[in-house]
Amino acid sequence: MNRQADLLERVREYDADVDEGLLARAYDFSLKAHGAQRRESGDPYFSHPLEVAGIITDMKLDAATVVTALLHDTVEDTLATLDQIDKEFGAEIARLVDGVTKLSRLEIPEESSPQAENFRKLLLAMSNDLRVLLVKLADRLHNMRTLHFVSKPDKRRRIARETMEIYAPLAERIGMQDMKEELEDLAFLELNPEARRSVTARLDFLREQGSDLVERISSELQETLKTGGLGAWVSGREKRPYSIWRKMERKNISFEQLSDVMAFRVVVDTVADCYEALGLMHGSYSMVPGRFKDYVSTPKRNRYRSVHTTLIGPERQRIEVQIRTREMHEVAELGVAAHWQYKQNQVNAEGEYRWIRELLEILDHASNPEEFFEHTKLEMFQDQVFCFTPRGDLYALPRGATAVDFAYAVHTEVGDTTVGAKINGRIAPLRTVLENGDQVEIIRSKAQTPQPTWEEFVVTGKARSAIRRFVRNQERAQYSELGRAILESVFRQEGRTFSEKALGNAVKVFAAKAVEDLYARVGEGLVSARQVIDAAFPGEKPSRRRRLRALTGAFSRSKTRKGGDKSIPIRGLIPGMAVHLAACCHPLPGDRIVGIVTEGKGVTVHTIDCESLENFASAPERWLDVSWDVGPDSPSIQVGRIDVVLTNEPGSLSALTSVIAKNMGNISNLKITNRTPDFFEFLVDVEVGDAKHLSNIVAALRADPMMQTVTRVRGV
Ligand code: MN
Repeated sequence: MNRQADLLERVREYDADVDEGLLARAYDFSLKAHGAQRRESGDPYFSHPLEVAGIITDMKLDAATVVTALLHDTVEDTLATLDQIDKEFGAEIARLVDGVTKLSRLEIPEESSPQAENFRKLLLAMSNDLRVLLVKLADRLHNMRTLHFVSKPDKRRRIARETMEIYAPLAERIGMQDMKEELEDLAFLELNPEARRSVTARLDFLREQGSDLVERISSELQETLKTGGLGAWVSGREKRPYSIWRKMERKNISFEQLSDVMAFRVVVDTVADCYEALGLMHGSYSMVPGRFKDYVSTPKRNRYRSVHTTLIGPERQRIEVQIRTREMHEVAELGVAAHWQYKQNQVNAEGEYRWIRELLEILDHASNPEEFFEHTKLEMFQDQVFCFTPRGDLYALPRGATAVDFAYAVHTEVGDTTVGAKINGRIAPLRTVLENGDQVEIIRSKAQTPQPTWEEFVVTGKARSAIRRFVRNQERAQYSELGRAILESVFRQEGRTFSEKALGNAVKVFAAKAVEDLYARVGEGLVSARQVIDAAFPGEKPSRRRRLRALTGAFSRSKTRKGGDKSIPIRGLIPGMAVHLAACCHPLPGDRIVGIVTEGKGVTVHTIDCESLENFASAPERWLDVSWDVGPDSPSIQVGRIDVVLTNEPGSLSALTSVIAKNMGNISNLKITNRTPDFFEFLVDVEVGDAKHLSNIVAALRADPMMQTVTRVRGV
C-alpha cells in the first residue's frame, strides 16, 4: 500500500536501520482494529493515526514512538486490548500506548481557570516517558487541523480552549515553538474568528501591495551575506495571525503601527558564522535599537539558541532576523525531541527514566517566572500528586497524601466531617495513599469529628494542624470536665459545698485565666485537688478525715467505693485523651475500678485488683474513686484479653474461635505465646460489651474439653 510505503520512507530518511516489519505490523494492526470506523470528516478513522504517525516522523522520533502513534487510539476506541499490544509489540510499546490512552481519558475542565496550570503539571506528571507527551501533542495537532469537521460548536470550542490553555503552553515549555504556534493559531481560528479574519485581511492587503515581498527580501539578504563571503540559508515567513494579534493586544497598538510582521531566519554553519552574519547585517542595514538579543551566548532555559535582531531591511521594511546554526535550528524547531536525537546514540545507562529526567531538567530551568513552573522546584514537582473532585476540580497534593489530606485541601470543614472516601468510585480506607489522576469523593457526616488517629497518616500541614487543633480543644474540654468532677468529689468528702465562687481564691493563687483553666489543670494532674482546697480556704487545717484517709491508703479507698455517689463517672471516653484504660489489666465496664492521676496525662483506670496498683500505694493523693457510667451513648465495645492453653490436636483452634463467636465475642487479635508438642498457648483479645460478657465467654471456653486452661489476663 502506498501510504504504508510513504511512512516507512519518512522514517528511513533519519533512521536507516528501522525495523520495517515492526512498522508494517503496527500499520496492519491499527488499520484492522479501526476497520470501518469513520471520522466526522467522512475519512476512514485510520487516516487519523496515520497522520499522527506522520507528525511524529517530522519530529524524527524512534520507531517505537511511530508505532505508538499508529496504535494510540486502538485501546480506547476499538476492541483491541493492551494485552494484545503487549503480546504483539512488546512491553515498551504497550507502556507507551497505555500512557497516551491515560492522557486521553483525562477530563480537562471547560472553564478557563487557574487550574490550567495544574492540568499542565498533571499531564507532565503522567507522561513519565516524554514520548507519550509527544504523541499526545501530535494527536492534538492533527485533531486541531481537522477541527472544522467537528459538527457540534460546543465541542469545537471546548477542544480549542483546551488547546490554547493546556497544550500550546506545554509545547512551548518543551521547546516546540512551531508546534506551539500552529496549535495557538488553529485555536484562535475557532475561538475568535473575527479577530483572526481582520489580521489575515490586513496581511492579504500587504501581500498585494508588494507581491513576493518575503521572497524578494530573503534573496536580498542572502545576496548581502554572499557578498560578505558567507554562505547561508535564508528563509522568510509571515508571522502567524495569532502571534500578530497577541502583539497588538500586548503592546496596545493598531495593525498600521505593527511593522514587523515578517520574520527571517539565517542558518549558518558555525557559531562564529552567526556573529559574522550579524556584523554583515548591521553593516548593511540600520538596526532598530533595543531589539537585539543574543541567545547564543545566553541560551533560553528551554535550550533555545539564536541571535535576534530587528532591521530596517531591504525595501525599507522593518523585519526581524534570527541567526542560528543548523543544530540550533533543529532544537528551535523540535525542542526536546531534537535534543533527544542528539543523545539517542549515547549509551543508555540511565534506563527508561532518562526521558522524564531530561524533561524535568528543562522545566526546572524554565526562565520565565510568570509562566509554567513558577515557584515550583524539581523536587516539588516529583513529590506532587494531582487528584480530582467528582466535579472535576483538581488539587495538587504532596506525594503520600491520603484521602484525609484531600478532604482538608478542599475545605477544613470537609476534612473535619469526613467519615469515608470513594476513590475512583470505590470505597477505600481513609489512609489510602492517593495516585495521580485519582478521583476522590469524600463522604461526610455532621456528627463526625476529626480523629486523633488520623494524625498518624496525614502528610499535609493543613490537615495535621486542623486535627491537632481539634484534639487539643477536646483534650482541654475533657481535662476540664474531669477536673471539675474531681474537685466536686473531694469537696463532698470534706463536707464542703462546692461552688465556683468558693474557688475564686484558688484561681488567683494559681494564676489561672478562668475557673475552667483551673479545672483543666486538676484534670490533667498538674495541680492536685488538695492544693486547690488549701488555696481556696487558706489558714484552715486539713480535716481529720483527710489525714485518716491519707494514712489508710489504697485498701480503705476500695471500701469507700461503695458510696457510689462519691465516685467520678467515666463517660464519653476518647482514648488517649483525659482518661486512659490501663494496658496492664484491661478494665471492662462492670469491673470494679480505680483511677490513678498521672501528671500531664489525666487519669489511668485500673481494675481494683490490678497488681500494678502497688506502685501507687505510697501516693494516696493520686487515687480517685471512679465508676463506669454505661449508658446508651457510651461506647459499647471494649477489648478484653484472655489467656488460653489449647490441646494441640486438629480442630482445637477452630473450637476456640467458634465458642467465642457463638457467644457474640469478636476476636480482634490472636497471638501464640508458647508452643509444645502437646499444647498451644494463646493470648486472645476479644471485643465484648462489658466484663460480664467476657466472663460468659471465659466460662463457655472452660466448658470445652479442648481448652486446658482459660484465664482473663490482668496485671502485667
Ligand atoms: Mn487520536
